[in-house]
Amino acid sequence: VRRVLAIDIGGTKIAAAVIDEHGGVERRARMATVDPAAVMPTRAADPGDALADRVAALAAEVVDGLAIEACGVGCGGPMRPGGATVSPLNIVAWRDYPLRDALADRLGLAVVVDNDAKVLALAEGWVGTAIDVSDYVAMVVSTGVGGGLVCDGRLLDGALGNAGHIGHLEAVADGRPCACGARGCLEAEVSGLAIAARTGHPAVDAPLAERVRAGTLVGVAVADVVNLLDLRRAVVGGSVALGFAAPFFAAAQAVLDRRCRLDYARGVRIVPSALGGDGGVIGAAALAWRSLGVPTGGGGRRLG
Ligand SMILES: [Zn+2]
Repeated sequence: VRRVLAIDIGGTKIAAAVIDEHGGVERRARMATVDPAAVMPTRAADPGDALADRVAALAAEVVDGLAIEACGVGCGGPMRPGGATVSPLNIVAWRDYPLRDALADRLGLAVVVDNDAKVLALAEGWVGTAIDVSDYVAMVVSTGVGGGLVCDGRLLDGALGNAGHIGHLEAVADGRPCACGARGCLEAEVSGLAIAARTGHPAVDAPLAERVRAGTLVGVAVADVVNLLDLRRAVVGGSVALGFAAPFFAAAQAVLDRRCRLDYARGVRIVPSALGGDGGVIGAAALAWRSLGVPTGGGGRRLG
C-alpha cells in the first residue's frame, strides 16, 4: 500500500489523515484550531510557528511509524501560488506565513499546499459526488465560504492560485462588512460566523427562514457561476450547508431552476457533498498524489 499524509487546516479545526492511492482513509486525527495570535496577541515568540508546531505534532501522531511518500495540505485562502505563503482570513497567526516550508522542515516530507476549497473540488472529482462530470463547482459553507472550479476536467488555479473564491461574490448590495474589506460578500452573509452574528445564536440553531435565506443566496452565486462557466453540477459541503440540509438545498435548487434558463445551463443540480468530515483530507491527499504523478480523476477520467 502506498500512503500520503493529508492535512486539512480550517478556522475551527485541523484534521490529519493517512490516505492510500484510491482515496481510502487509513488513519485520522483532529484537533481544534487554537489560534495563538488570537489567544495571546503579543506574548508568543512567534504565534505562526507555534501553530505550525501543533499541526506537525498532530501529523506525527497520525503517521506514527508508517512510510509516507508526500504530504498534501488544504488551507484557507488567500495564499501565494503553491501555498508558498498563506494568509487565511480565519487564522490571524498566519499572515504571509511560509506554511509549505514550515511543514516540510517539521515533517521531513515534500509538502504541497493549496486552497482548502480547491482541494475539496479535487476530492469530489476523485471519490465524491462529481466523479461523473468534468465541469463543476465544489463549495464549502462553514466558518467561511469557499469554492473550487473544475472546467474541462481541469482544476482552475488563476493567476495567483486563488480561482474559485465564490465567497466574495456580492450577495447583498451594501450588506454586512466582510473580512476581505468589501461589503455584502456571500461569506459575510451566510458563513457560520455571519449567521451567528445575524441571529445571535450558533448557526446550528438557525431558524427555518435563515436556512432558506442562506440557500437562496448561495443559489444566486452558484447560478451566476454555472451560467458563466457552463458547469454541470454544484457540490456543497461544510457544516453550515450540511446542517441546514433540505431547506437550504431546496431553496438553492429553486434559484438555479429560476436563473439557469439557457439550454446549456438548464437542469443543473446543486447537491450536498457526501464526503462528510473527510472531504478536506481526501482532497489534500489528491493534491499529494498528483504531485507524485498518480492520477486522481474519477471513473477513469482525466482530471488535470
Ligand atoms: Zn469578501
